[in-house]
Amino acid sequence: MSKSKSPESVKVVVRCRPMNEKERATKFERVVTVDVKLGQIIVRNPRLASAHEHPKVFTFDSVYDSNSKQIDLYDETFRQLVDSVLLGFNGTIFAYGQTGTGKTYTMEGVRNDPERRGVIPNSFEHIFTHISRSQNQQYLVRASYLEIYQEEIRDLISKDQSHRLELKERPDTGVYVKDLSSFVTKSAAEIERVMILGNQNRSVGATNMNEHSSRSHAIFVITVECSELGVDGENHIRVGKLNLVDLAGSERQTKTGAQGERLKEATKINLSLSALGNVISALVDGRSSHIPYRDSKLTRLLQDSLGGNARTVMVANIGPACYNVEETLTTLRYSNRAKNIRNKPRINEDPKDALLREFQEQIARLKEQLERRSGKRKKRRPRRRVGEGGHEGDLEDGGTEDEEEEEEEEEEGGDQEDYWRQQQEKLEGERKAIMEDHSLVAEEKLRLLKEKERKMEDLKKEKEVGEMLSAKVKAMESKLLVGGKNIVDHTNEQQRILEQKRHEIAEQKRREREMQQQVENRDEETLELKETYSSLQQEVDIKTKKLKKLFAKLQAVKAEIQDVQEAHIKERQDLEQSQNELTRELKLKHLIIENFIPMEEKNKIVSRAFFDEEDDHWKVKAITRLEDNHQMMCRPVSAVGYRRPLSQYARVAMVMRSEVRYKAENLLKLEMDLPERTTRDYEEPAIAPNVAAALEAALRDEDEIQVDASGFHSSLGLMGGVGPTGAGGSLRKPKSGRSKTGKKSSTPTSPFSPSSPASPLYPQSRGLVPK
Ligand code: ADP
Ligand code: MG
Repeated sequence: MSKSKSPESVKVVVRCRPMNEKERATKFERVVTVDVKLGQIIVRNPRLASAHEHPKVFTFDSVYDSNSKQIDLYDETFRQLVDSVLLGFNGTIFAYGQTGTGKTYTMEGVRNDPERRGVIPNSFEHIFTHISRSQNQQYLVRASYLEIYQEEIRDLISKDQSHRLELKERPDTGVYVKDLSSFVTKSAAEIERVMILGNQNRSVGATNMNEHSSRSHAIFVITVECSELGVDGENHIRVGKLNLVDLAGSERQTKTGAQGERLKEATKINLSLSALGNVISALVDGRSSHIPYRDSKLTRLLQDSLGGNARTVMVANIGPACYNVEETLTTLRYSNRAKNIRNKPRINEDPKDALLREFQEQIARLKEQLERRSGKRKKRRPRRRVGEGGHEGDLEDGGTEDEEEEEEEEEEGGDQEDYWRQQQEKLEGERKAIMEDHSLVAEEKLRLLKEKERKMEDLKKEKEVGEMLSAKVKAMESKLLVGGKNIVDHTNEQQRILEQKRHEIAEQKRREREMQQQVENRDEETLELKETYSSLQQEVDIKTKKLKKLFAKLQAVKAEIQDVQEAHIKERQDLEQSQNELTRELKLKHLIIENFIPMEEKNKIVSRAFFDEEDDHWKVKAITRLEDNHQMMCRPVSAVGYRRPLSQYARVAMVMRSEVRYKAENLLKLEMDLPERTTRDYEEPAIAPNVAAALEAALRDEDEIQVDASGFHSSLGLMGGVGPTGAGGSLRKPKSGRSKTGKKSSTPTSPFSPSSPASPLYPQSRGLVPK
């Protein structure tokens, strides 16, 4: 159902910002010249000696110098695009360039200054003015605002700013952001509030707003749906989507010693922008069949805008000063390439997901519901008037709204308010009547009163539901915008004429520029065509001139080749560096896995891991019984006959050892535990043989001494000596008779034996008698 058109190129315009204060103060050289008439940007690279002779020239659809006005840019370049969005085409405006060159200025500008308002606010004005002038059309405008930072998508107008959104793809509508909130807006002021809210959220969490915005891509999306009665008598809906993209700064992110978060960030920013570059290259190349849209979130999201169903304008922003010349050249080359992208825009007619249709259907449903309710009342009214007996069932069904009704509603001037008032007054009257009726028993009175109150309550509820429904209808209808109101407005008409004129002027300028470019081209051609010469000298002159020109061209091309090669090398080095850093990171991860994760665990995870193309992430499959029934239900071979897998060692230990540890199946130990003994039998101390021998020897010596002592005694006696005590001490010993060993000593007797039986030498005294 969509009208196809022939392919059309991406329109590329370049805007050079004025020198800023600092650049003027430092007196930087201006290296960029803007030729608005010819649509050319001329850049002299001061670092190259030949630059003055062979400046680089780039031609674009149109170029804007430092004096360019926002409104001129809008009228000449963007108005047409927004117009086609209003017709149902998709449109995209990109701002590309180094940080600080005016991307945000071009897209948003200075909000409070009508002169310096950027594309986004100007397009708000444009869209809603268009709608107010439209006739017999119904519009629905909604806005979303998102940001891509470090390859994560954040909804800038949702309440929960920590939530990250996912990209999804559907065959019918293509790539979209899941759960992205969108606001239905009714006026330029309302949609502007969405933008302000988003900008506030953008800066929240950013330590340095400038730095943050130079690293993130912001996309403001306006969806315009228009419903119009077609020639076939059916309502048709056209949906145009306008993407307004403020890209991250295109300068190389310095990566000196970047680690962790910074490294991640640096590689990811480069990834999105270089992916954009790769997509552009692949599209322009013509040879590559694969366009790497999937390499980054940005390119996926803007797939349609690059080589797909959209009209696209790219604004390349550059700075004029010499110290930016490298970046300026890179930007110009980049955009030069983008010129050759071919898109295939078409009007999106009657898409399945049109919100407008949903709104229309819902409004119709609600209206029907309302009508059903009023129909019900109309039927009820006569019944109620019949008499007192009527109202019992009446109000009961009044509370329930979804019960079926017989379809016999006749149209009547619905003075709803009157009806509700009447009902209320009636109930109130009845209540009073009951109160004043003295014939009723107190109990009965109370019951009736309660009933009346309940009825009043029900009536109120019913009224509320009705009001809610009509409010809902009103709210929804108010969101659907219809034009034709201001068409008679005189000032409006004048404004329209003014715009028309501006548009014509812009068109005129564009044609002039194109003609100029053609003239330029033709000049070169005619130079070759002038082949008739009047004299040899003239021929030499002309040919020399031609040669010089061609030689200069050749030099310029050579220089360009060298520059491009250098740029290429630099880019490659950058990529290599980030690759090296990533490899190093990877090696670290490997090291950790190899050393700290058990082999089998690793294998398990590896076998469950899969790459989710949708989300661009590795994921681990969940273990579910349903999905992998087989694996889960089968008993592993190692566990045949056992309740659970057992190692070989455990099985052997179970049989061989009585330890509890391996008796996994029956942990009860059935033997009785006897109490432990706490006493000990007495045992004689054991004496080591050498000790025993020593003792014995010692005892024996004593006996010998006794023997000696007897001799001594005799001698003492003879000498009439020392008294009995002295002898007694030494002689007492043998009397004990028992040695420490407990053995009866038999030995002492022997020395006396020869003498004692014969004749006692002394008078016998106790203790001195030998045994
Ligand atoms: P970017 O978004 O590319 O980083 P900005 O839009 O923030 O850059 O612009 C940087 C500064 O330059 C701002 O102060 C802005 O007002 C100023 N500027 C940029 N372009 C222009 C212009 N064409 N005319 C006047 N001022 C400009
Ligand atoms: Mg910016």
